[in-house]
Amino acid sequence: MKASLAETIRAYHQKGWSPATSTNYSFKEDGQIWVSRSGVDKSIFNTEDFISIDVNGKVTAPFEGIKPSDETMIHVLIYRLFPEAQVILHSHSKNPVLISKKYELIFPVENYELQKGFSGVSTHACSIQIPIFENAQEMSYFEQVLIDRKSEIQQHCFIIRQHGTYAWGENLFAAKRHLETLDYLCECELNQF
Ligand SMILES: [Zn+2]
Repeated sequence: MKASLAETIRAYHQKGWSPATSTNYSFKEDGQIWVSRSGVDKSIFNTEDFISIDVNGKVTAPFEGIKPSDETMIHVLIYRLFPEAQVILHSHSKNPVLISKKYELIFPVENYELQKGFSGVSTHACSIQIPIFENAQEMSYFEQVLIDRKSEIQQHCFIIRQHGTYAWGENLFAAKRHLETLDYLCECELNQF
């Protein structure tokens, strides 16, 4: 998993989704959560850049002293609230960042073939709504808003306003599909204006 996720991280950097060392990623393996450490240039991210944390986001041995991402608690919250999550991806792609300036609480889309990229969606002929949360540095905000609006999170992803997206899945393949589907839908809606 470390090697395939590191490869995905480098590929997403190539797409411009993680400029200036930003974004963060994690996965669960044998009950252990691994998260990307802070401050790494994502174009050269490798398997040694993952560190282990406990279910409360605290770095565990032998990685004590290494700084995890500031947003590690968002990963911890997603694992806590969505038991199907085994891999979590975060993107700073411009498409959702710009889309979040056009909508308030939700990003709505309908009738796109690619909506089927979300697990459980079997036809383009439906409406989908992706929640938008405010950006915040206080992790207590995300803890509250994720709990309060959990029922709105139906497509394994959400947008943080003028910040980026989080998407997850039962494996890397599903998490990538969800992240890329959301980005594509944002891009389509942006480019129609
Ligand atoms: Zn971020």
